[in-house]
Amino acid sequence: MSYIKCLYCRECGREYPVAPEHVCEFCFGPLEVGYDYEAIKKVISKDKIQKGPLSIWRYEDLLPVTRDAGIDMGTGFTPLVKAENLGKLLGLNNLYIKNDSTNPTYSFKDRVVSVATNKALEFGFDTLACASTGNLAGAVSAHGAKAKIDTKVFFPSDLEQGKILGAAIYGATLVAVDGTYDEVNRLCSELADNHRWAFVNVNMRPYYSEGSKTLGYEVAEQLGWRAPDRCIVPAASGSLFTKIWKGLNELKDLGLLDSVDTFMDLAQPDGCSPIVEAFDQDTYHVKPVKPETIAKSLAIGNPADGFYALKTIAETKGNAVRVPEPEVAECMKLLAETEGIFTETAGGVVISALRSLAKRGIISADEVVVAFVTGNGLKTVEVIEDAADPVFTDPDYKSFQDALDVWNKRN
Ligand SMILES: *Cc1c(COP(=O)(O)O)cnc(C)c1O
Ligand SMILES: [Zn+2]
Repeated sequence: MSYIKCLYCRECGREYPVAPEHVCEFCFGPLEVGYDYEAIKKVISKDKIQKGPLSIWRYEDLLPVTRDAGIDMGTGFTPLVKAENLGKLLGLNNLYIKNDSTNPTYSFKDRVVSVATNKALEFGFDTLACASTGNLAGAVSAHGAKAKIDTKVFFPSDLEQGKILGAAIYGATLVAVDGTYDEVNRLCSELADNHRWAFVNVNMRPYYSEGSKTLGYEVAEQLGWRAPDRCIVPAASGSLFTKIWKGLNELKDLGLLDSVDTFMDLAQPDGCSPIVEAFDQDTYHVKPVKPETIAKSLAIGNPADGFYALKTIAETKGNAVRVPEPEVAECMKLLAETEGIFTETAGGVVISALRSLAKRGIISADEVVVAFVTGNGLKTVEVIEDAADPVFTDPDYKSFQDALDVWNKRN
């Protein structure tokens, strides 16, 4: 069973029934899921979780919906890899990569969509939809196919081929909007008001965003029921960042973690860094920007959870890091060459932020650091096209030896 109790307004605290709503009618604050934690406390235990499925559903007691609605793609419980090689390079003895690029559609978005899809089915919706920066389109399309419901995904038309095809293959209706993500989102908000469609990140947003908490649960469990000393997380809307923090604190409040003293560090690319800009200006007012970044999955100029992300940074004495655009592809290569993990641009942003914090001496050598790699590099091959530099040879021994000599001189 699910222990969801209500929705409540994050600003004024007013409670609402469990429904596909996302804004407070009184103060326009965002709605958040409220749980019956007393009841959860009675049933949850490390043992019960460890006996659960190897997916996000092992944390079902802490989610706003159960699997019973029907859609289980095997999302979650992705590898937490000890990054010995990259750690050595950066002078870090306890560096881990949470590799969420191994999810069913190769990004962390399967977590939020698995939760939102089951909730949408429970509410009786027959259309699944989203406003996407790329990965969400793929996750929604796959879940819509599995749920056998009509699926419409909206995205900015300048998206990478890998993201467009990675949604198209599932048979969803693709809507390529001639505009920025923020314009796509505005269009979808209007559509959600006038159609009975489950927009996972609009009218279903309170449920959707809860899916991200599972990343916090997993790293704590995978570290042996211990919170990381530091999390480094890429931000678009800022939701993932705040929910990892929420997840860790829920485990502490339920007595599953002794303490949570985690620095929460947020990373954005230079071409779209409105949250970092507000942090640098020492304000909680996030000024919208027009994104111009190669990290398209992070290209949200007007981040819905920017304010809450800034509060999390302040509360944890964390950092906000702006990553130079040329370092995005460079750090995708760095992670691939050191750890054998091929991440997309958002992962390049995280690794660059990690490197910058390590170089500046902000991370101490023995801290348990988790860098969140949220998506797969095969979806953004455009940005690393110059990485391929083969030895061209005729198919005979001598030609190969000569070609290799020439190649070695060049490299
Ligand atoms: C969507 C996305 C993010 C950021 O998510 P928010 O919750 O909007 O901050 C990070 N990484 C990847 C790969 C994404 O697709
Ligand atoms: Zn309110």
